[in-house]
Amino acid sequence: MKKCFLDGYGECDGKLTGEHYISRTVLESISKGKMKIPIGGLSWQPESTLQEIGIGSLESNILCYKHNSGLSPLDALAGQFYRYLDGVDKNPADVEDHFQVDGESIERWFLKVLCGLVKSSSIRGCSFKDEWLQILTGKDWPELWGLYVPAPTDSQILNNEFYVELKVNPETNEILAADFRVAGVPFVMVFGTPGSPNSFGEYRPRGLIFELPLGEKRLEFIWKQESERAIIYKKVGTTKESHPQHRGWK
Ligand SMILES: [Zn+2]
Repeated sequence: MKKCFLDGYGECDGKLTGEHYISRTVLESISKGKMKIPIGGLSWQPESTLQEIGIGSLESNILCYKHNSGLSPLDALAGQFYRYLDGVDKNPADVEDHFQVDGESIERWFLKVLCGLVKSSSIRGCSFKDEWLQILTGKDWPELWGLYVPAPTDSQILNNEFYVELKVNPETNEILAADFRVAGVPFVMVFGTPGSPNSFGEYRPRGLIFELPLGEKRLEFIWKQESERAIIYKKVGTTKESHPQHRGWK
């Protein structure tokens, strides 16, 4: 019988429940109120093709009621995080100038998304260490694991999208790192102690500063250890082009 993927990591309770492996709050922010959303790249989809999928069907019975509801604050936070990053670029007058978010909770949310994608078989051919499940249920992150934020390239396009790309060890199939884009803003999650951490970006930065025509917007991460470095974005214009990653997709 199928078990909760956090069985053995704290107590399970209740039957298996539908878990949106990509948080429903985020999917709904992207769809702007529509019930369907373009999705591509999952194991059951044709290659390089975006398909309109109902948000309600993007779930899988992989967590028991107790574990699912225990993790749901991360999904709520992810929705706020997504809407802030999207709003800063698309509707800056509607978002507050300063938004604080707990850094380790955002890291755990990224971890939860990856666990869900693997455990629901939405992505195949990769695995992760048991240590991930310990971290997801509260264990501290090992040194230099976690969130890196790369500085923007000279013409970064911020699309209304959530994007994930994995770096997998070809011998063990273990996920070593994952590139995310949240409302187009790139983040890297690293699972292991990298040889050259700077190559991934700024480790656990103080935040992101968006320099906009109407003033500055600041997303601040709260960490146990203080950090002073911030990543700065400067808005230079708008475009109808989408991110280069989508070229060649149907
Ligand atoms: Zn459980």
